[in-house]
Formats: sequence, C-alpha cells, structure tokens
Amino acid sequence: MTMRSTPPFLIVGQGLAGSLLAHGLDRLGADFRVIDPGGATPCASRAAAGLLNPYTGPRYKAPQPAEVWFRAAVRHWRLLEQRLTTPLLHLGTLYRLFRDSQERDRAMARTRETVRPQIRVQAAPAAARLRAPLGCAAVEAGQVDLPAFVDATRHWLRQSDRLIEEAFNPEDMDADTTARPQWRGHPIRALVLCAGHRARDWPWFHPLPWRMSHGQALILERTTGLGPHMLSRGKNLVPIDEQRAWFGATYDRYSEPTRDEGGRNQLLEALRDCFETAPDIRILEQVAGVRAGNREGLLFCGAHPTHPRLYLFGGLGSRGTLIAPPAATALASHLVSGTPLPRRWSLAGYFAGDGKP
Ligand SMILES: Cc1cc2nc3c(=O)[nH]c(=O)nc-3n(C[C@H](O)[C@H](O)[C@H](O)COP(=O)(O)OP(=O)(O)OC[C@H]3O[C@@H](n4cnc5c(N)ncnc54)[C@H](O)[C@@H]3O)c2cc1C
Repeated sequence: MTMRSTPPFLIVGQGLAGSLLAHGLDRLGADFRVIDPGGATPCASRAAAGLLNPYTGPRYKAPQPAEVWFRAAVRHWRLLEQRLTTPLLHLGTLYRLFRDSQERDRAMARTRETVRPQIRVQAAPAAARLRAPLGCAAVEAGQVDLPAFVDATRHWLRQSDRLIEEAFNPEDMDADTTARPQWRGHPIRALVLCAGHRARDWPWFHPLPWRMSHGQALILERTTGLGPHMLSRGKNLVPIDEQRAWFGATYDRYSEPTRDEGGRNQLLEALRDCFETAPDIRILEQVAGVRAGNREGLLFCGAHPTHPRLYLFGGLGSRGTLIAPPAATALASHLVSGTPLPRRWSLAGYFAGDGKP
C-alpha cells in the first residue's frame, strides 16, 4: 500500500456492501483500498437473485414508505450503471401468485397503505399457464444483476490499483484500533468490515444479534415454458438475461454455503407448483449463499462502540439491493465528512458500556 498524507480507508470484503461503499467513497474523492480474495470465498451477492422488491415474505412487509425506498434505489442503480458502463437493473412487474386467501387479504391491505401504491391485486397474467386461481399481487419491482455488479466493480478496482486480492487476517491489524489503526504497519483512516456472514466470526462484531439463513437457488436455461415474467409463489422465478433464469431460494438453518440434492429437489417441486402444466426444466447451475441479517430488522452500519475506527456494514438480510445503496451513501459521507449516521443504526446498544456483550 503506497503512503500518502491522509491514510486510506480499508474495506474488507467486496460483495454488494463493500462494492457500494467503494463507489460511495470514490464519488467523494476519498482514498481507499478493498481487500477480498475473490475466487471460492463465499459471497452471497453471487448467489442472489438481486430482486429489488419492497414487499417481501408472506406478510408483504415493506419498509415504509415503500415507493420512496424503491425510487431511491432505482436512481442509485442507474448511476452505477453509468459509472461502470454495464447494464445492471431491469425494471418490471413481479407477479406474486396467491397460494391462499390470507395472502390475498394481506396484499389487499398493503394496496391501501401508501400514497402511490406499487402493488395491485389482479388476475394472473395469461401468457404462461400459471397456477393462480386466486389471482396475484402485481408489484412494481426490478432485478439487479449482482454478479455483474460485483465483477464490474472488481475490474474497476483492479484497474485503479485499489484491490488487494487476498484474505484479510485480523491479526494483521494493530491491536490499538481506537485512534490510529494500522494494517501491516501502514496507517489506515478506518477499517470497514463488509465480509457478509463471515463478519460474525470476528470477535469485534460477534455479539451482535445476527440472523443467518442458508439459501440455495437454481440457474435455469430460459425455456419458453417458464414464460417471460418475474414470478413468485413462495419462491421466485427471475429472468436474468435471454439465456438464463434464476429460481430460488431455500431457507435453511445457518451453515457454510453448500449445495445438495435435497435443496435441488425442493426447488424443482416448488417450480413445478407455479404452473398448471410442468414446463421443460434444464438446470445450468446450483448456487448457495448465506443471508446475513439482523434479528431486530435493521442493517448493521456503524462503528464499534470502543473501537471507533472499526466499522461494520452488513446484516442486509434479503433486501440488500433496496436498502444497501442509501446506507452506503450515508456511510461514505459519515466516513469522509463526519455526517452523523441515523441513530437507529448505532451499534452501541448491542454492547454493554465496556464494548463487551
Ligand atoms: C440464495 C440467496 C438469494 C438472495 N436473493 C436476494 C434478492 O433477491 N434480493 C436481495 O436484495 N437480496 C437477496 N439476497 C441477499 C443478498 O445476497 C445480500 O443482502 C447481499 O448480497 C449481502 O452482501 P454483502 O456484501 O453483505 O455480503 P457478501 O455478498 O457475502 O460479500 C462478502 C464478501 O466478503 C468477502 N470476505 C469474506 N471474508 C473475507 C476476508 N477474511 N477477507 C477479505 N474478504 C472477505 C467475500 O469474499 C465476499 O466477497 C439473497 C441471498 C441469498 C443467499
């Protein structure tokens, strides 16, 4: 790492969180490095569908006001497309097929909640022979090609000599992370941990109320039988490009990301369930990742209470594409100019006064 008068920030991890933060810091003219080995290191962003959908889960929960979050995320992704000259965001309608009348009632309730509803209840589209006698919720949504975003960002970082292609080892940090942190003897302005589920393995942030779930998904050949739409019937079917579609995901207890036959069979059954007549299915790949979330429903975005130069940005759960872009902007501005972060993100409340759990 070359020495400058102002030390650089060090971002650990280059999935969705680390990549967004790198762009945020760059926009503010700050110096930084990103360390991530790439390769086979687990990266949830490479397994995700990248759905940009405010209304998730059987209860159609959404951060309110949902349309404001959605518009802000769309603007952010469009800017990133320009920066990276890569198409990333595909907007469209997500058809959430009702499995029972309770789901329909919950969707109905959501349509009355917002000033400009992004959701309406209607009959399922006729193009594919979908199993939806009770109709569906048509949601204004999008899909972000997260692997393309991570790859394009990695290329940009490599070209600008800001990528360190190895695994960060906490033992390389000077123990005194309070005032003048150092990494391998080089001063750094702050360290920001964006290591996805791996952040929990490190003693600093282990005590946080992590909620981890393991997920598997299938990358399918996009045959005509799958139809042209983004669909959901408990699980999501999402076109990625002309050739491929993503279907997933399973929700299982936390373990390192692995793919197995049980997961594949569960997904195939769920996929057939979306249609009146089972389509021709060809699997190209099976992927797996860990969703790292916060049991309290917030993301983790802030400094350790007793190591103020040590930050965590993660816990994005299943809504990273929606909530991470504005959080990355806020964190970059906080790091560079000291702009306060929202109090609700403060990590201090998760620790006792001495910084211990
Ligand atoms: C199956 C599945 C489907 C999903 N679908 C969606 C969806 O449709 N929409 C949505 O918004 N979200 C979805 N998510 C959630 C989404 O993937 C996450 O919110 C987001 O990608 C997490 O990004 P992250 O950067 O925090 O972590 P990650 O993407 O896991 O990135 C962590 C990075 O840290 C690096 N790293 C780890 N250890 C080290 C180390 N010691 N040194 C250096 N680097 C290290 C890894 O190499 C990796 O690149 C899904 C998740 C899964 C598993």
